[in-house]
Amino acid sequence: MELACLDLEGVLIPEIWIKFAEKTGIEALKATTRDIPDYDELMTMRLAELDKAGLGLNEIQEVISTLSPLEGAAEFLDWLRERFQVIILSDTFYEFAGPLMKQLGYPTLFCHKLTVDESGKVVDYNLRQANPKRQSIAAFKTLYYRTIAAGDSYNDTTMLAEADAGILFSAPQNVIDEFPQFPAVHTYEELKQAFLDASIRNLSL
Ligand SMILES: [Mg+2]
Repeated sequence: MELACLDLEGVLIPEIWIKFAEKTGIEALKATTRDIPDYDELMTMRLAELDKAGLGLNEIQEVISTLSPLEGAAEFLDWLRERFQVIILSDTFYEFAGPLMKQLGYPTLFCHKLTVDESGKVVDYNLRQANPKRQSIAAFKTLYYRTIAAGDSYNDTTMLAEADAGILFSAPQNVIDEFPQFPAVHTYEELKQAFLDASIRNLSL
């Protein structure tokens, strides 16, 4: 049996923090790990900005529910779920992804969690484990599943390497150049074909 493991942001949905920053006009929330490499520092800043703007979980989810999955993503996901058991491995938080997962029909999602107090204020974040994408693939192997993984960025490359087959989707050129061992595709049609090529089963488009 084969599992299809997908990254979420940049593959099925836009980068949530960046879109959220655009929607709310909070400039500081556009920062990513490229700007603030220390993830703890970045998240502490993000939570402080949310607090400063008076945005609790309800307001955050309201804003995020105005975002949409990438064009063609829902259709691609339906196609994939007909052919594979699909699990999404993401570094986002359940509370952030929720409104977008609803639009995708709530596929299985492994990610992180926020701590929210009674008033709705986001007070902390909880990472499920270190290197969760690669660890998930390693765990699926112990269950005798063959895995095909697709992602768009650096934080996916250990997952792609751990999987039986890895695919870069819509990745920036520097990632494509640095990881030539993974086929790189740019459209959902190409991604479908890449999954079929990587599969050892006889599947069709
Ligand atoms: Mg991504």
